[in-house]
Amino acid sequence: MQIGCWVRRSARARPHVEALQGVPYAELDRLAGAAAGALAGRGVRPGDRVGLLLPPGPAFAAAFWGVLRLGATAVPVSPKLAAPEVAHQTGSCVLVVDEPLPTRVLTAPDPLARDEHDAAVLLHTSGTTSTPKPVVLTLRNLLWAAQGSAAAIGHPADERWLSALPFNHVGGLSILVRSAIAGTTAEVHDGFDAERIAARLAAADGPTVISVVATTLSRLLDAGLREPPRLRAAVAGGGPIPPVLVERARAAGVPVAQTYGMTESTAMATIQRPGDPQPDAGPPLFCTRVTVADDGEILLAGPTVSRSAAGEDGVLRTGDLGRLDGDGRLTVVGRTADTIISGGENVAPAEVEAALERHPAVLEAAVLGRPDPEWGEAVVAVVVPRPGTDPSAAELREHCGSLLAGHKVPKTVELRPTPLPRTASGKLLRRALD
Ligand code: ATP
Ligand code: MG
Repeated sequence: MQIGCWVRRSARARPHVEALQGVPYAELDRLAGAAAGALAGRGVRPGDRVGLLLPPGPAFAAAFWGVLRLGATAVPVSPKLAAPEVAHQTGSCVLVVDEPLPTRVLTAPDPLARDEHDAAVLLHTSGTTSTPKPVVLTLRNLLWAAQGSAAAIGHPADERWLSALPFNHVGGLSILVRSAIAGTTAEVHDGFDAERIAARLAAADGPTVISVVATTLSRLLDAGLREPPRLRAAVAGGGPIPPVLVERARAAGVPVAQTYGMTESTAMATIQRPGDPQPDAGPPLFCTRVTVADDGEILLAGPTVSRSAAGEDGVLRTGDLGRLDGDGRLTVVGRTADTIISGGENVAPAEVEAALERHPAVLEAAVLGRPDPEWGEAVVAVVVPRPGTDPSAAELREHCGSLLAGHKVPKTVELRPTPLPRTASGKLLRRALD
């Protein structure tokens, strides 16, 4: 069995288990072979890049595993991108678009022998701080990421991991990969329909794990999610998870496992045990080394870290700020690029946002620095009130003053009725608020 041919292996070991809902492994193996045959017929050769412009679902999975089978590199791109953006991210390569899967296949080539260092996938970062950056992940990166996750939170044979994230995002794609390696089910949703997903989680055959970001977790709780019967873990990351939201989830019997990771580390670098009450991102995966530099920047190393993103010493400078406690657990403080320097003091916007979100009338908050003649930068908050409430700026500043040192309290609070700008994966886009 070749490295990377995890679908073929699972098709042999567990042919009737669903790979994706309604598609058993035996069928996915056949579809991946058909996709590989069709792509080979279009001239795709080992080492080529193949763009995947497909919504998350069986067609994507078939094309993705078909590309890997040919020894080529998959380049999943967001179906929301405009044509020039697609061209920029995929480069000159074959593009698979949303068409019915090939029914007539000339040859379904045998999986090619591959080296673990071969590029499997080229993903782009979320573009939160600037233009999305390309990151190459190898078969080895994917394999270790799956093993690291399984070692940390387990991966039982009846796992059913719900993904409502796009597959061009590392959070969504790694669910597909982990499931294929273990021969378990990825329940794939195209978009986040909170009512529908809450209903699925409440079902007797519901998912055992779901990946969420702060906004999607909050929407599930708003939709009435309570004590989902099979859910082992709600893996929550992608950005800060406000402590008040974790408390709400715990009260509703939802076992949150906070995680910290990024595209460049093939998703998780640290993760909590599900239901862990601590307000941090947990300890590192068994294969990942997390250190914090003198200036507070989080550094990562290990086999899940992309060589294309790390320095020559194999160390990835994350651009995130954090601290490690005596037990090696990581608390993420914010991003270096977002740090506000006000009156010579450093302020991490995420800390002020978390304080604001403790106020019952605050639905969402964004904190940023604005140039200020007196302070250099002034801490400014933009707040979306909860429907039916009408908090005043003075009241919110006072609330912050009761929780934070004076230099962190926003000088001004702007109230706005519309949702805050976010990336496709739900991250706050502070740069769109400047
Ligand atoms: P870009 O690199 O293009 O600016 P991005 O960093 O948002 O975009 P991703 O790789 O999708 O792209 O996201 C990883 C980032 O998400 C991390 O570097 C970190 O800033 C943030 N993040 C992930 N998990 C957490 C967490 N638990 N707490 C705080 N921030 C987190
Ligand atoms: Mg980044």
